[in-house]
Amino acid sequence: MNQSIMKKSFENGLTSRLPQIRGIYTHNASLGEKTWFRTGGAAEVLFDPADKEDLVAFLKNKPTDVPFMVLGLGSNILVRDGGIPGVVIRLGTTVSEIEVTDTRIRAEAGALDYNVAMTSLKASLTGMEFLSGIPGTIGGALRMNAGAFGREMKDITLAAEAVDNAGVLHHLSIDDLAFDYRSCSVPENWVFINATMEGTPSTTSEISKRLTEIQTTRNDSQPRGFRTGGSTFVNPSGHKAWKLIDAAGCRGLKRGDAMVSEKHSNFLINTGDASTADIEALGEEVRNRVMAHSGIELKWEIRRVGLPVNVETHS
Ligand SMILES: Cc1cc2nc3c(=O)[nH]c(=O)nc-3n(C[C@H](O)[C@H](O)[C@H](O)COP(=O)(O)OP(=O)(O)OC[C@H]3O[C@@H](n4cnc5c(N)ncnc54)[C@H](O)[C@@H]3O)c2cc1C
Repeated sequence: MNQSIMKKSFENGLTSRLPQIRGIYTHNASLGEKTWFRTGGAAEVLFDPADKEDLVAFLKNKPTDVPFMVLGLGSNILVRDGGIPGVVIRLGTTVSEIEVTDTRIRAEAGALDYNVAMTSLKASLTGMEFLSGIPGTIGGALRMNAGAFGREMKDITLAAEAVDNAGVLHHLSIDDLAFDYRSCSVPENWVFINATMEGTPSTTSEISKRLTEIQTTRNDSQPRGFRTGGSTFVNPSGHKAWKLIDAAGCRGLKRGDAMVSEKHSNFLINTGDASTADIEALGEEVRNRVMAHSGIELKWEIRRVGLPVNVETHS
C-alpha cells in the first residue's frame, strides 16, 4: 500500500501585493530542505531580506491582512505538508553580524548559535559554550529560550531588539523578554533583530575544554546525522519526557519512515521519506501512549506550523 501526500501549490498573486524590497521574494518556495526534518510543504512567498533595514521596511509596508512568520535554521520546526500561507521571512547570513565589545557580544538574529560560541572562545569569554551544540540561530534561541547543560539564553542575555508587525522597533530588557522554560513572552508576531549577551572573562584553554565536553556528551547521548528537530516534547514539571516515553514503550516506535529514536527517545527522526503528517501522527501517538501509561500530558516543544493536507492511499 502506498501513501502519497497531495502537496498544495499556492496561486501566484501575493507577491504583487507585497512592498518593494531589496532582498528576494520566492513564490511557492519549498521549505522542506530548509528545515532539519527535511519534510513539509511550501511557503506561499519566502522573503530573504537584504539586511535588517530591508526587513524593517517590509514589516512597515506590507498589507496588514498578509500573515507572516519567521524561520531561523528550522531546527525546532515541523512545516506541515500543505505549506504556509502568507510570507515566511528567513533570517540568514544577511542578518548575521556578530560584534564583541569588552565582555559583551551583540549578535544579529540570523547569526548561528555555533558562531556566537566560537566568537566567545576567540574573545576569551565563558558562559556561552552551551550554544555550540544548538543548531539554530540567535533569533530562534531567543524565541525558544534555548538551553543545554544547565544554561539557557536567559542566563546570558542582557537585552534584545525586535520589530513588531507594524515595523516599530522595540528595545527589550531581560525583564521584557520574560524568559521561561523553552519560551519567552514577546508576542509571536514580533521579529527579533539582535541580542546582546554577556560573558565572563576566562582563558581559551578552559573554554575549549568545556566545548569539547559538550560535544562529547552530545555525541554520546543524541542521534547524530539524522533529520530531527531535537527534543520533541518539553519536560513536564518534575519529569523527564524521555523517561515517560520509554516507560510507555515508545522507544523505536515507527510510523512510515518516522521513528522514535533508539538513542534518545525524546527525539523523533525522519529515517527516509517521512512526511510531516507521519512525524506529527507519531508524536501524537507517543503523547497518547504516555497519557495512558502515566496520566501525564506531554506538550510539544517543536513548533508545528502551516496547513495539513489529505493523504491519498493507493493499493
Ligand atoms: C539535533 C538537534 C539538537 C538540538 N538541541 C537543542 C538543545 O540542546 N537545546 C535547545 O534548547 N534546543 C535544541 N534544539 C532545538 C533548536 O535547535 C532550538 O530550539 C533553536 O533555538 C531553534 O533555532 P532556529 O533558528 O532553528 O529556529 P526555527 O526552528 O527556525 O524556529 C523556531 C521558532 O523560533 C521562531 N523564530 C526564529 N527566528 C526568529 C526571529 N528572528 N524572531 C522571532 N521568532 C523567531 C520561529 O518562528 C519558530 O517559532 C535542537 C535541535 C536539533 C535538530
